[in-house]
Amino acid sequence: MTGAILEMIDLLARLPGIGRRSATRLVFHLLDANPEYAQRLGAALCDFHNQIERCSECANMSDQNPCPICTDHHRDDKTVCVVENIPDLWAVDSGGTYRGKFHVLHGLLSPLDGIGPDDLNVDLLIDRIKRNHIGEVIVATRPSVEGEATAMLIRQSIGALPVKVTRIASGVPLGSELEYADARTLERALQDRKEM
Ligand SMILES: [Zn+2]
Repeated sequence: MTGAILEMIDLLARLPGIGRRSATRLVFHLLDANPEYAQRLGAALCDFHNQIERCSECANMSDQNPCPICTDHHRDDKTVCVVENIPDLWAVDSGGTYRGKFHVLHGLLSPLDGIGPDDLNVDLLIDRIKRNHIGEVIVATRPSVEGEATAMLIRQSIGALPVKVTRIASGVPLGSELEYADARTLERALQDRKEM
């Protein structure tokens, strides 16, 4: 095997869920496929980081700032759903019944992993609550130790600000990631949210 093939396998095998066997299969698929496809894939990857920005309002990632969710006037802008990451945002949003705005933390409180309160976008959330007169903040972090600690951090940071703070019901199996919760479970967890 030549160096270029091994290099491709090494690079692809670093992706989550892709072991060396899958990476090897993908690499030979790319070699067999139309070269134009590999060129388009390469070009898209080259520009990827330059094209994607973090929304200055909600920290969502997209090729627009503010992102398409923040600029969607059909959404209820008085309700903000706080999620751990963008896959969770997509999971809640694709359920179809939640039509408010979002706030992405990009992580959960986890002192053992060196993730403290300053590493999450809580200040940005507090600023939004004050600026946009938000009526309800729904904390949709997963029901793990880190998810609960993060929910408490948000509750404490909001303090006495005049906003309702709710927590999604723990219909989502313990420690599971929201991203993988089935749509109906997620809907129920949102509907049965409780005030914190
Ligand atoms: Zn946004």
